[in-house]
Amino acid sequence: MSTIFARIIAKEIPAKIVYEDNDCLAFHDIAPQAPVHIILIPKLEIAQLSHATAKHQDLLGHLLLKVPQIAKSLNLSDYRLIINDGALAGQTVFHLHLHILGGRELSWPPG
Ligand code: AMP
Repeated sequence: MSTIFARIIAKEIPAKIVYEDNDCLAFHDIAPQAPVHIILIPKLEIAQLSHATAKHQDLLGHLLLKVPQIAKSLNLSDYRLIINDGALAGQTVFHLHLHILGGRELSWPPG
């Protein structure tokens, strides 16, 4: 079942896009948890990380390698990358996504 992120990919609803290519899209989170909070998604609909399989290996590698490029483009030297995999981990949108958080000192451990 499609999510709100599919509608962002289709440009049916607006988003503040910071990067896009054939395979992925990155945009500002609507409820930022840090001064910079980017959501990076594959355009392919994969509900959550644990649903990915070996056929997604190149796509997952592509996403990971885009993270430092996107961070650099936003002048982030240090940042945190988060994937919530499943409802108990805090996932609310079931379209795989990476959170890129930065622009302030981040505490550890997370809640
Ligand atoms: P998660 O809780 O890991 O599933 O993260 C979902 C994220 O998507 C949350 O941080 C939301 O604030 C964000 N989000 C939900 N709807 C939108 C939207 N329309 N545009 C941008 N970010 C969104």
